[in-house]
Amino acid sequence: MATGSPAYTWLDDALETIHRAHWHRHPQSITQGPGPEIELEGQRLVNFASNDYLGLTSHPDLKAAAIKAIADWGTGSTGSRLLSGHRLLHKELEQAIAQWKGTEAALVFSSGYLANLGTITALVGKRDLILADEYNHSSLKRGAQLSGAKVINYGHGCPEVLTDLLVKHRDHHRRCLILSDGVFSMDGDLCPLPQLVAIAEEFQSMLLVDDAHGTGTMGKMGTGCREHFQLPVGDWIQVGTLSKALGSLGGYVAGSASLVDFLRNRAATWIYTTGLSPADTAAALAAIELIQREPERIAQLQLNVDYLAKGLEGLAKLNFRRSPINSPILWVGATNPAMALEMAKHLREQGIFAPAIRPPTVPHSRLRFSVMATHSPGHIDQLLETLDRYYLD
Ligand SMILES: *Cc1c(COP(=O)(O)O)cnc(C)c1O
Repeated sequence: MATGSPAYTWLDDALETIHRAHWHRHPQSITQGPGPEIELEGQRLVNFASNDYLGLTSHPDLKAAAIKAIADWGTGSTGSRLLSGHRLLHKELEQAIAQWKGTEAALVFSSGYLANLGTITALVGKRDLILADEYNHSSLKRGAQLSGAKVINYGHGCPEVLTDLLVKHRDHHRRCLILSDGVFSMDGDLCPLPQLVAIAEEFQSMLLVDDAHGTGTMGKMGTGCREHFQLPVGDWIQVGTLSKALGSLGGYVAGSASLVDFLRNRAATWIYTTGLSPADTAAALAAIELIQREPERIAQLQLNVDYLAKGLEGLAKLNFRRSPINSPILWVGATNPAMALEMAKHLREQGIFAPAIRPPTVPHSRLRFSVMATHSPGHIDQLLETLDRYYLD
């Protein structure tokens, strides 16, 4: 409650503005989960709002690994890895990520957000140039701002615009860094990776691709967009998260041994923060081992995505246009934020949990559906039937 101190009254005014624009949000309490079905504030719902794409968060192997790590190492990591020493587990996880991704090395941060902030601010500064896809994730945008480099956005997924900007600006700067999501978190489409790699090489620019949603979901082995496009590993920078398909917490950077050694010495969000907890580290390691042992989970996810996408295409009123490449993120548009909220509310009443995504997160309001490998055909049918009825009424 406001205490009445005039220094803080602007907070209530600001909140009022947020409410009026239908932008206000607050988290809801899950009373049972995680999984394709959850209980949200007492109501049983089919869950299309989770990043746990492979359903690993509740897998017995991950739970057992986390419990064992706590038994062996305790609950905390006790300090910065440089000053306090890291656990063998940290090293094992980094080696496992590098081996899985096919890179020389990898470095684990406490979250994907921190991996982006730390990496971008270490790689570029005032004399440098950043070219960024306009739809990039908040962590790439904030990292770019914080770095002090000159930041220019290019049109979403548009290599031609990127090239024009490089022709115009590249020579006026020392280093250049191109930033893009791999799978875009709100649109579910992929960056034009083969073109980005070629352009980066042509203009002597670094390229960082954030595969938070591609990790564990794209490519047969789930190593991400690079595998999907069947590109060689190269020396560009692959960022990802342990917090989505891998069912744990943390972020990683995978690339050359020099890159990783440099980041260990220059990335402030890695140096000045406590290492990932033993339980999170062990769970992520177990997830990577599991995916490699049982890649059929990823194939199942891709089948489920295909099933939902075909179903959405079949609902004529929806105007759903399927992209040529399907990530586990699908969405249908709403004409405005209030309508997106109303659709989400209607689905919720019918037993379906799917978030309304509104400005400022995206320019155009929508309902977003995140598909899981553990959704049954019945779960997906329930979503499709509910949408069908909504558009008939
Ligand atoms: C979720 C996400 C992140 C943040 O990852 P966390 O590990 O949750 O901090 C970074 N980038 C993108 C594109 C994301 O979708």
